[in-house]
Amino acid sequence: MGGGLLGIETAASLSRFGMKSTIAEISDRLLPRQLDAEGAAILTSMLEAGGLSFILGMTTTGISPVGYSAVGEGFLLRFGDGSTLEADIVIFSAGIRPNIELARKAGIACDKGILVDEYMETNLPGIFAAGDAAQAGGRVYGLWLPAKEQGGFAGRNAAGEKAAYPGSLVSSTLKVNGIELASMGSIESGEGISVTTRRGEGSFKRLFLKDGRLAGAILLGDAAAFQPLQKLLKSGAAIADPESLLA
Ligand SMILES: Cc1cc2nc3c(=O)[nH]c(=O)nc-3n(C[C@H](O)[C@H](O)[C@H](O)COP(=O)(O)OP(=O)(O)OC[C@H]3O[C@@H](n4cnc5c(N)ncnc54)[C@H](O)[C@@H]3O)c2cc1C
Repeated sequence: MGGGLLGIETAASLSRFGMKSTIAEISDRLLPRQLDAEGAAILTSMLEAGGLSFILGMTTTGISPVGYSAVGEGFLLRFGDGSTLEADIVIFSAGIRPNIELARKAGIACDKGILVDEYMETNLPGIFAAGDAAQAGGRVYGLWLPAKEQGGFAGRNAAGEKAAYPGSLVSSTLKVNGIELASMGSIESGEGISVTTRRGEGSFKRLFLKDGRLAGAILLGDAAAFQPLQKLLKSGAAIADPESLLA
């Protein structure tokens, strides 16, 4: 359950041992944080060709034990539309949720995580939050590098500096069934974002530019440009010819 990076890696590993794996994902596409709709559709087809199955855009409404299967007791999964699936093993890979109970009880404002301003300070002066528990700039990152960066800003501000956390640049890579994928930065299209795409035999590459600077990128099937693009993203350098970056 869960079509994120770890769910896909797990399913692909199981299929290498000859197990038939189905990924049930609540969003209408795989990797909703790393891929746009077209990229996700291409990845889905590539993984289907490698033997994985998908149930997308579906809430799992129940899991109950059923009979006995080859590896012991099996399970019956029920989905929102009334359909069902039998499975020998169910693996949850459905993301993280901060435990905010203690903070909430202390009167600290919370949403998905502990809410902090740009100085990593909560609504209670002198109380800071960082890392997996914190929601900064509307986002709970759940990743090591942002946690480390946020911890640095929280510490500096707690010590009396006034240093605004600018948000973290997030990038992810995945390599399963010989398929390379890299995603970085913001992959949202919309007003003020120009998109450059190159579709090739077994590859899909897309750049997202804001104000003539790289804001995000998707590299699927051929991720050779990952490191140069990551450097460009961090540098904030102006890009005159985005097409040339996808050659
Ligand atoms: C299996 C796994 C694989 C991961 N792989 C990656 C990866 O490949 N790349 C990546 O970027 N990130 C990865 N992460 C996420 C990364 O580990 C976290 O984002 C990072 O550890 C967050 O740091 P943190 O300090 O906020 O939280 P944590 O590292 O979880 O530290 C929180 C600490 O606080 C303690 N604690 C909790 N409650 C209390 C309390 N009430 N009082 C005192 N102490 C308390 C906990 O015991 C823990 O020691 C992975 C996480 C897991 C679980």
